[in-house]
Amino acid sequence: MAEPPGRLPAPSRVTRCRGRFAPSPTGLLHFGSLVAAVGSWLFARAAGGEWIVRMEDLDPARSLPGAAPAILDALAAFGLASDGPVLMQGTRTAAYAAALKALRDTGDAFPCWCSRSDLEPCDGLHPGRCITPPRDRRPAWRLRVGSAKVGFDDRIQGRFEQDLAREVGDFVIWRADGVPAYQLAVVVDDAAQDITEVVRGADLLDSTPRQILLQRRLGLPQPTYAHLPLALDACARKLSKQDAAAPVDPANPLPALRAVLGFLGQRVPAATTPRALLEAAAAHLDIAAIPRTGCAVAAFAAARNDAG
Ligand code: GLU
Repeated sequence: MAEPPGRLPAPSRVTRCRGRFAPSPTGLLHFGSLVAAVGSWLFARAAGGEWIVRMEDLDPARSLPGAAPAILDALAAFGLASDGPVLMQGTRTAAYAAALKALRDTGDAFPCWCSRSDLEPCDGLHPGRCITPPRDRRPAWRLRVGSAKVGFDDRIQGRFEQDLAREVGDFVIWRADGVPAYQLAVVVDDAAQDITEVVRGADLLDSTPRQILLQRRLGLPQPTYAHLPLALDACARKLSKQDAAAPVDPANPLPALRAVLGFLGQRVPAATTPRALLEAAAAHLDIAAIPRTGCAVAAFAAARNDAG
């Protein structure tokens, strides 16, 4: 495909680095999402690049009313303002539909009426064709993965490879309820926004081969990837907005920002405003010092507070 679907007009078609933070408005900003926001900002700024925010508000059932503006306000209080307009995925359905059409036209996408229970005999993996007769309802659309083994060099986690047919199967790119799937939307938007580096939580490491396969099938450029350690709760589970992880306090941004920098293995500069702290941290970003695996945040933040 010569021109990626849904390309947005960019004031300056980037040749330099552009990073992004792409929260889902399923709750307020918590320590884990602040790690992803700060991490992606530091990578972009350390490379002299831009950083933009995209609101991944595709799934109405999971979106929390008021969360999107609250996240943007909190980011601003932490010194993290988007360098361009905030893209709302809810406005982008036509671009995702164009990508789906391109994949249908090439035979890469096929309709599927299988439910989870239909796929149980195949260990939940889709066997390469729909095993359920067409039903009287809309199908989901899946991407035929073929025999693709996809690998990439993550800037923090190192080499990561997946045998998609064995480990993932033909995956959903458009849901039966009419909502474009995250995997398709993120790939279309990363290309449309000229994102050159994706920095996000390590829970998305194993989504990345699917996204790279989609980029290849759609003829889109592949950004670099860096997957940050996950902030865990005291039971070693990922902090998540849906589990109502304690939101960070935008009224008192410095302690949380210092804790995030420490969590990322960075020296914590002596600065008295959020922006000055971030600028100084970006100037000394040490990617090799970022730990690969996460740790429990409560213990970590408490230790930092004790240390002053
Ligand atoms: N919207 C996703 C989340 O909030 C992040 C997606 C991404 O960075 O690719 O977890």
